[in-house]
Amino acid sequence: MVGGGQLARMTHEAGIPLGIRFKLLSDTPQDSAAQVVADVVVGDYRDLETLRDFARGCDVITFDHEHVPTEHLKALEADGIPVRPGPDALVHAQDKGVMRDRLAAIGVPCPRNRIVAGPADVARFAAEGDGWPVVLKTVRGGYDGKGVWVVRDEAGAAEPFRAGVPVLAEEKVDFVRELAANVVRSPHGQAVAYPVVESVQVDGVCNEVVAPAPGLSEELSGEAQRIALTVAEELGVVGHLAVELFETRDGRVLVNELAMRPHNSGHWTMDGAVTSQFANHLRAVLDLPLGDPRPRSRWTVMANVLGGDYPDMYPAYLHCMARDPGLKIHMYGKDVKPGRKVGHVNTYGDDLDEVRERARHAADYLRGTITE
Ligand code: ADP
Repeated sequence: MVGGGQLARMTHEAGIPLGIRFKLLSDTPQDSAAQVVADVVVGDYRDLETLRDFARGCDVITFDHEHVPTEHLKALEADGIPVRPGPDALVHAQDKGVMRDRLAAIGVPCPRNRIVAGPADVARFAAEGDGWPVVLKTVRGGYDGKGVWVVRDEAGAAEPFRAGVPVLAEEKVDFVRELAANVVRSPHGQAVAYPVVESVQVDGVCNEVVAPAPGLSEELSGEAQRIALTVAEELGVVGHLAVELFETRDGRVLVNELAMRPHNSGHWTMDGAVTSQFANHLRAVLDLPLGDPRPRSRWTVMANVLGGDYPDMYPAYLHCMARDPGLKIHMYGKDVKPGRKVGHVNTYGDDLDEVRERARHAADYLRGTITE
C-alpha cells in the first residue's frame, strides 16, 4: 500500500487475520501505518524510481490516498504490476473536472457545474443558473474542505484562481444532509454495497457517521446504492469506492465526490458490519471473494476523535473505558494537534439516541471539550 496514514494502518490490521503480507511505502517512519507495519519502505511516492523499487516483489499495489501521479501508475502497470484501482479509474478521484464530465456521460445526477476561466466567468456561471452563491473547487489537490470556496460575488471569486490550477464551479446545493454510499468491487466484477450512511461534516471535516442513515427512504437508499454500483462498474473501480452524496430538499441524491480507497464514512464497518471496508478492500484488490457487507447491529455511530489542547489522552482513556465498556476505540498513533483527526470511536446498539450519545461523549471527552 502506498501512503502511511491511518487508512493504511487499519487496512494492515484487517490483513493480519487473512494472512496477507503487507508492505508499505511511507513518507516517514513516524507515519501512522509505518509505526505498526513490519515491512516499511520510507520514500517519496512522487518519485517513479522509488515506486518501482517498492513495487518489485508485490502482487498488487493499492493506496491510502489518491495523490500518486497518473503517469507513474501507468508506468507501474507497463512494468507488469497490477495497480488497483487502476489509473484510468483513479483519475476520477484525483480530478474533479474529469469526474464531473464522466458522471454526466453515464447519467449520474450531479450539481450543475462547469470549469470556469476566472472571476468574470464565475459571474456568468451564476447568471446561467440560480445566481450566487457559487461553490468553487480546485480540480486537484483538495481534501477535508481545503480547495473549496463558497463565493457570493465576483470580487470574492478571485482567490481560488491564485493557485494556477483549473477551477470547477458548482451550484450551491440546498441539501438536507450529506450521505455516503460505499461499495466494493473486485476485478472479476463481484460487488457489494454497504448500507447508505449519513455523514455529518463540521467545517469541511467529517465529524460523525450514522449507519444506516436515519429515516432515509428505501427508494433513495436504493437509488444511492445503485449510483455507487454504477459508478464502480462504469469506471472500472477495483477496491472500496466511497460516493459522497447530497440529499436535496426535493428528495433527490446528487453526487458530490468520489474516493477510491477506504474512507472515513466507512470506519463504522470495523465494528458494525460483518466485513469491514478494510477487509473488503483487501479482498477486492487481491481478487478474493468479497465478504458480507451487512450491519451487525440496528445502529452504529462513528465519531471522529479530533485533537484538542491535551496531548496526553491517558486520563481520558481511563474515563471513557470505565464509563462505557462497549465503546470501540481506534487511535491512529498520531501526535495530538488541535483539530487533527487522531482516531475514531464506534458504538452500536438498538437505540439510536443512546448509541449516538455514547459516541459523541467519548469523542468529546477524548478531545477534552467536556470533562464529565
Ligand atoms: P474535499 O475534496 O475537500 O472533501 P468536497 O468537494 O467534498 O471537498 O467539499 C467539502 C464540503 O463542502 C462538502 O462536504 C460540502 O459540505 C460542501 N460542498 C461541496 N460542494 C458543494 C456544493 N456543490 N453545494 C453545497 N455544498 C458543497
